[in-house]
Amino acid sequence: MCGIIGYVGKQNAIEVLLSGLKSLEYRGYDSAGIAYLKSNHTQIIKSVGKIKYLEEKIDKDLVSNIGIGHTRWATHGKPIEKNSHPHKVGKFTIVHNGIIENYQALKKILNNYKFKSDTDSEVIAALLDKLYNEKKDILNVIKQLENLLVGSYALGILCDDIPNTLYALRKDSPLIVGVGENENFIASDVPAILKYTNKYMLVDNNEIIEINDKITIYNSKLEKQDKEILIFEGSLEQAEKNGYEHFMLKEIHEQPSVVKETLHKFLQYDLDSLVNEMPNLEKYKQISIVGCGSAYHAGLVGKYLLEKYADIKTDVYIASEFRYQKVFIDKDSLVIFISQSGETADTLASLRKVLEEDIDTLAIVNVIGSSLAREAKETIYIKAGPEISVATTKAYIAQIAILSVMALSIGTKKQIISDKKALEIIDSFKKLPDIIENLIKKDYKSIAKTIYDKDTCFYIGRGMDYALSMEGSLKLKEISYIVSSAYPAGELKHGTISLIDEGTNVIAIATDKNISDKTFSNVKEVKSRGAFVTLITIDTIKDEFDFADNKIIIPYINDFVNPLITIIPLQLIGYETAKLRGCDIDKPKNLAKSVTVE
Ligand code: GLU
Repeated sequence: MCGIIGYVGKQNAIEVLLSGLKSLEYRGYDSAGIAYLKSNHTQIIKSVGKIKYLEEKIDKDLVSNIGIGHTRWATHGKPIEKNSHPHKVGKFTIVHNGIIENYQALKKILNNYKFKSDTDSEVIAALLDKLYNEKKDILNVIKQLENLLVGSYALGILCDDIPNTLYALRKDSPLIVGVGENENFIASDVPAILKYTNKYMLVDNNEIIEINDKITIYNSKLEKQDKEILIFEGSLEQAEKNGYEHFMLKEIHEQPSVVKETLHKFLQYDLDSLVNEMPNLEKYKQISIVGCGSAYHAGLVGKYLLEKYADIKTDVYIASEFRYQKVFIDKDSLVIFISQSGETADTLASLRKVLEEDIDTLAIVNVIGSSLAREAKETIYIKAGPEISVATTKAYIAQIAILSVMALSIGTKKQIISDKKALEIIDSFKKLPDIIENLIKKDYKSIAKTIYDKDTCFYIGRGMDYALSMEGSLKLKEISYIVSSAYPAGELKHGTISLIDEGTNVIAIATDKNISDKTFSNVKEVKSRGAFVTLITIDTIKDEFDFADNKIIIPYINDFVNPLITIIPLQLIGYETAKLRGCDIDKPKNLAKSVTVE
């Protein structure tokens, strides 16, 4: 998920690798390493933390002409040195970005190998070694590897027997080839090579790249391929965003694959993974969820699903309040802590408070080995990858995805949801990435144009829609600086409606057929007081919706997947509005990404 660089040529590979890794630092990472080939032998140097620590370990006089480098963002195994890449098994040294989903099954066919790390990646090096020992035909070995791996990968490969050549391949993880003069590169992204060349080629899924003083590209049948050489004309900063104008937009576009990665292990085609991969939570009489900001909002989505489908009373707390509040939590309950970084100070203090009481705790975090993950009794990792934009999008959607599958798992185990229904829901989750992708492509700019010039906005909804409207409202206010508040739709008339005037922006969410009529009545109330209404609703409600000024109609699938659909227009309305207002979207004023202070 982070960075790869590889080099073959006349310059000192060590310098090129370090410079490339530094240009990939913006992607976030927890450890780094390089491998270089010399006299048919590969040497590896790696270090936890910043690249400068790796640099300190490298002898200044070290010279080589071929090597691979890696920044790791741990997905399997803690961010410690033995888990950092490169990994070497036998004659093969690899760097890997991505996730090998079937690594445990592969370990079974590699039972005579002893693994040194806890990563999924090390199996790749072992597999290469095993296949190569059977037949020393490197291209065929890589082709076979491709057929065996399930998951996402960008790979750089060195083989001790082939001293001047570097191999690479990819599936669903980014990888490019940098084209130089008698020197060539592989990298996960253009910034890594820009110091040396602005010429590059895009690598397609399942192609095999062979690099020495020339570049040869093979398809999966090992036929040579012609490739167009592209020229990167933009700045380094543009390259870092992978062509997107902002990291936030890039991260919104990453959501289909984040949802897929996060849920993969829970949602196979039978019920076993749903039942076995999720901790046993059905025993709890009560669940409390603690978080800050968007993580708190994710908890509210969780409450709705856990109460309705798992039949467990669920309370949600803001961590900065919870930590100082008298809490009444029984021994037979569970407390869930949600935080992207796993280091949020208030959430961490809340966890420590609960740990004193000997109550079961579960963390839902993004960063492997973070404090919350280490200290909570159980941890579920979301697989969002590093998030750079301060306003969260992909981590939030991954948090609600986990809570949704948690409710589905408990509901199925308790037989509140029949096995047949659960299988249908599992199937619908598999269609979700495409649905999200289509929704992201829609035009939100024209909606933003109708709302961006007002300084206030109200979001209204009921039930789950209220929980989602809180996140929509936060997105808008944090990046566009519009004063925005979310209200349960029925609550407006108890005071807030006095603020509705001619042209006041109201964004109404009505995606629950059972109560949408009530929300529509509230929309009509604000409309008749002059509000400008943007309505988000579902395709299974048949109405003209002529009471709304803007309409966004999203598909209704079921209650488990729909929160992950509804949030997309809310994120993009926030994004497009902030853009029209000329705001610094990725770094909003006064905000920090990881809030490690009280
Ligand atoms: N899944 C691999 C690991 O945990 C690679 C992570 C990455 O993409 O950096 O080591």
